[in-house]
Amino acid sequence: MGDILVSWINRLAVACIIVAAAVPVRAESPQPAADLTRLPLAALISQSEELGLPTKFLRDLPSDFVTVTFEDLHRWGAEYHPEEHHMILNRALSFNQAAGSLRPLTKMTTSEVGNLYHELYHAYMDYLETKPPDPSTDGGRLLAATQELQKCRYAEVKITPVLQRRTSTEVRYLSEREAWETQHETWGVFVQWAIWTKLELIASRGKPGLVTEGWLKRLKKADHDSILVGYYEPEDPHERKLAQKRYLAPAYRISPQEIHTIMVLLFGEPSDAADRAATAAQPASPKNAAVLPTCKQ
Ligand SMILES: [Zn+2]
Repeated sequence: MGDILVSWINRLAVACIIVAAAVPVRAESPQPAADLTRLPLAALISQSEELGLPTKFLRDLPSDFVTVTFEDLHRWGAEYHPEEHHMILNRALSFNQAAGSLRPLTKMTTSEVGNLYHELYHAYMDYLETKPPDPSTDGGRLLAATQELQKCRYAEVKITPVLQRRTSTEVRYLSEREAWETQHETWGVFVQWAIWTKLELIASRGKPGLVTEGWLKRLKKADHDSILVGYYEPEDPHERKLAQKRYLAPAYRISPQEIHTIMVLLFGEPSDAADRAATAAQPASPKNAAVLPTCKQ
């Protein structure tokens, strides 16, 4: 594995955990925080625009839907709790590290902004799942796409038991919750990567739109290296003793079709830009293609 791959996978390993109520991932539930604060959405949107980042889904999110608290997180970089619509971010993302309010995006590192977008994506999906919109809207189509993928692509997957030995894989039949988590994290990983990469390309900062030649070139490499893979926390206690997180095998990395859906329906990129992204994520040889959804009725 190349250095970039190792460093990206290490980054993912501390990226995020999305905690559904049924799974006792943490021994204790999060403390009711005294310093609960609303997500400063209006400020986030204007700062995102300043950096040339997508804002479509942020505009769709009601400002009173999510609360944020800051904690000294060691195990994961961030947590999202859908039942309480609650985002827990690392204290480093707060203003003066005082755990009071969110630091402006323009003062964060590229990794921090990527991590924050990953959590904002979880918050938006939580909103769509809590209040399903009309199926004909972009939000409704996005929700339907994720639900189909949970049933048809992420219910039966292959994992890499040892992250460093990616050719050695095992089949797993995921529970509904595990498949839900795997789809959410796969997409969260892509969202995080897309935003981080845009900001790493200094020349494109401040300009609207994600898709540039440089971004496409990096997407092609990311797909080739199969770094855009999701993960889940196994429900089976025995398996959880072996591994806190299971990472999907390269064939189960995000597919070009899923990238296209995210680009259009979540980010609001023009469809020709989404086409170019999907093409860049198409491997040269069909035998290396990502596994496509198959629905077993
Ligand atoms: Zn996540």
